[in-house]
Amino acid sequence: MSNVQFISQYGHEEVAFFQNEAAGLKCIIGIHSTKLGPALGGCRLYPYASLDDALFDVLRLSRGMSFKNAAAGLPIGGGKGVIIADPKQKSRVLFEAYGEAVNSLQGRYLTAEDVNTTVQDMSWVMNKTKFVVGQDGVSGDPSPFTAIGTVDGVKATAKFLFGSDSLKGVKIGLQGLGHVGFDVCRQLYEAGAELIVATHSNRANMKVAVEEWGAKEVTDAELYKTECDILVPCALGATLNYDTIPELKCKAVAGAANNQLLDDECGKILKARGIAYAPDFIINGGGVINAGQEAFTTYDKEKVLKQVHNIYNTVYNILDESKTTGEPEGVIAQRFAEERIKNGL
Ligand code: NAD
Repeated sequence: MSNVQFISQYGHEEVAFFQNEAAGLKCIIGIHSTKLGPALGGCRLYPYASLDDALFDVLRLSRGMSFKNAAAGLPIGGGKGVIIADPKQKSRVLFEAYGEAVNSLQGRYLTAEDVNTTVQDMSWVMNKTKFVVGQDGVSGDPSPFTAIGTVDGVKATAKFLFGSDSLKGVKIGLQGLGHVGFDVCRQLYEAGAELIVATHSNRANMKVAVEEWGAKEVTDAELYKTECDILVPCALGATLNYDTIPELKCKAVAGAANNQLLDDECGKILKARGIAYAPDFIINGGGVINAGQEAFTTYDKEKVLKQVHNIYNTVYNILDESKTTGEPEGVIAQRFAEERIKNGL
């Protein structure tokens, strides 16, 4: 299917391409839905191999944000921005040009941090537009909230598997020790989990995981084949694919990474293998719950945390419904979100 056909099939309201040669900016902003409110989703900066790759990514990610925001009960829609650039080329000029692009959409799209963009970058975006969330001194870095929600989702998954949400002695395989994964790893250690962690390029984080939190280090390839209770992917997307799913020796997958399933078919294969799956856009909603509050009301950390902890119930209910109906968890989660988009929160 061509990307234009995807735009039509996914139901995007608007997809805009911006180019500013002097600033070195090439970016695409996808507004999937503003049905529940302005479209919110982070800005990803990535050295895409082609404009087509970038367009495909923004289409998938912006649609995913509509589902994530609706499932989290936020009165906001779904959108995403992608900047096609090498992270080494990041500059004030680049982000100011991106800010002008965002501003031209007059508030239909609200931007924030994502992969390879930071609170500092957003402060440059704010020089040109007010349509930015995740601001320093307000909701700030979303990662700690994503980590809290993810750990709640892991606990709900343990409850579903074992009848108790205690993680004491529960064997967890974890991939990715970045902003979210490192925090998740610490919290799982504190909750008494037994950790097996895939080798990470950040050796300092890996050292802490191994030496202070007692994690066993394995290669990435070994992690998939490792016998464990819950696999917690906190790195990149598409890790649950036709190669890895047959190898898995876990009882469930519950992690923060976006777009873990390569495609819908992989959700069915995972289900057929009897492996429970906490849908990514539900379990990793903590960050957007945090940033989203800044978009529509006065920021209140206590309120945010209450809503983030609700991820526990949502994950548990989806796992339970999937067990009863036999439908893949992702299908149930998507329907839940689509109904909210159609009928309101
Ligand atoms: P990050 O870039 O800080 O961390 C990801 C880490 O994974 C990197 O350090 C990278 O080196 C590592 N990695 C990549 N491939 C790996 C592999 N094969 N094996 C082991 N490690 C590998 O990103 P992050 O902010 O921690 O986000 C992690 C994931 O969670 C991403 O998929 C992101 O889209 C998703 N997510 C993040 C947030 C958030 O608040 N940051 C919110 C929702 C979803």
